[in-house]
Amino acid sequence: MTCKELCEQHKAKKNGPSSRYGNGQKRCQICDIFLNWTGIFCPCCGNKLRTRPRKQDYKIKLDLKKSRNFGKFENHTD
Ligand SMILES: [Zn+2]
Ligand SMILES: [Zn+2]
Repeated sequence: MTCKELCEQHKAKKNGPSSRYGNGQKRCQICDIFLNWTGIFCPCCGNKLRTRPRKQDYKIKLDLKKSRNFGKFENHTD
């Protein structure tokens, strides 16, 4: 997986600091670029693109579940 600079053709335009993932833009870690691309894989290097889940609390819920299981036996002050 290497950057062939094809990604430049699909480069996402800057719309502000917080709107990148929100606009459905995806990040390729290999090319180090944000893409306007509907596919799962980078059209340039073939790397799996990164997206942020729409609901922010999904990860928080997961983390809570994890920490609850973790703290079950050692953290009884919680
Ligand atoms: Zn690239
Ligand atoms: Zn790429």
